[in-house]
Amino acid sequence: MSSVMRYSSEEIVWQEVPGETSLAYTITGCPVGCKGCHSVDTWPVGSGVELSPGRFSQRLYDYQGLITCVLFLGGEWHHEALLTLLSIARTHGLKTCLYTGLERVPTEIEKQLDYLKTGPWVARRGGLESRSTNQRFMDVKSGELLNVHFWD
Ligand code: SF4
Repeated sequence: MSSVMRYSSEEIVWQEVPGETSLAYTITGCPVGCKGCHSVDTWPVGSGVELSPGRFSQRLYDYQGLITCVLFLGGEWHHEALLTLLSIARTHGLKTCLYTGLERVPTEIEKQLDYLKTGPWVARRGGLESRSTNQRFMDVKSGELLNVHFWD
């Protein structure tokens, strides 16, 4: 597996991580393969723009004072590269969040996270806004389940 992370979009988001202003990266090459995935166009490995540590650091300087968190939508399959970027984000005093379609991620990654969304997309269960979802949004340090913040 390539260690180079690439992304298809970079945007500021407010709803994906409750209470935070997040710089969100959609990482390409997701291998999970959920049926009904809304981001099939991001599946091809090697697509998108390279997210090198240098580029990432520059973006964090660009957004200094404007964001409180960095969100990676995928990327756990680039274990070392993700750890490097999470470490850079924390060095900048930012919180960190990962959305993964897996049920769990390696402990080394979890240790670098403030928030973690787990679970694949299952259409009949819905996403985080659904009370019957299979997905879990956690405060990693406290272990508190925060799904309630996504409900209307
Ligand atoms: S984890 Fe997310 S991006 Fe990956 S296949 Fe499932 S819904 Fe799509």
